[in-house]
Amino acid sequence: MSKKCYRCGKDATSKEHAPAKCYFPEEAEYRKNLITVPSCKEHNEDTSKDDEYVRNWICMSLGNNGTAYKQFFGKVIKSIQESPGLKAIMFKNAKRVFVEDEKGNKLPTWAFELDRVRFDSAIIKIAYALFYNTYKETWHKDLHTMTDFLVYGDMTQDEQGALLQSFRGQIHEHHFDGNNPQVFKYKFLQTESEDIHEQVLRMQFYEGFEIWVIPKIEINTV
Ligand SMILES: [Zn+2]
Repeated sequence: MSKKCYRCGKDATSKEHAPAKCYFPEEAEYRKNLITVPSCKEHNEDTSKDDEYVRNWICMSLGNNGTAYKQFFGKVIKSIQESPGLKAIMFKNAKRVFVEDEKGNKLPTWAFELDRVRFDSAIIKIAYALFYNTYKETWHKDLHTMTDFLVYGDMTQDEQGALLQSFRGQIHEHHFDGNNPQVFKYKFLQTESEDIHEQVLRMQFYEGFEIWVIPKIEINTV
């Protein structure tokens, strides 16, 4: 029996990594049993530039572990230097901002303008792949992302990010899945619904950058 595509169920012709390999440092210790899913020709679009773009953003974000710094100094700087186009996109409208540490000291850092649509579509692609890898069926939902690690230019959060932050205190600690937790870990969390398609997915990159993927609520109009 041939394998079926993780997105559409057609016959698969190749496989995809989830998340993409570019997140993982090259040493074997960071690449234990990487997750792959079968993919058809249509859904195996080459998104390596998007993956690199998102990886760069995540690695540059504050609050990650040493593995992110390792990727930053190894790969991110190289990827930016080698691609003037990417550099121009990433650093346009960069501005100086201040963040507060635990002691209330204001520390200077840089804020960059992010292409959120591009960012989200790469993240959602990972979510579909992880769902398929876990449940062996396609996640039949439109999805959107939720993170409090990305803020507007004035350092305020979008609605979803604020919502996530507001219920952070109530999130139970749980065991994450993933063989390389220093790079990436994830967990599907059951909601009130019994339907697995209604679950939410919590993902954490480099033990810091956190992003949730949740099904869009369908509003039925008569
Ligand atoms: Zn497909």
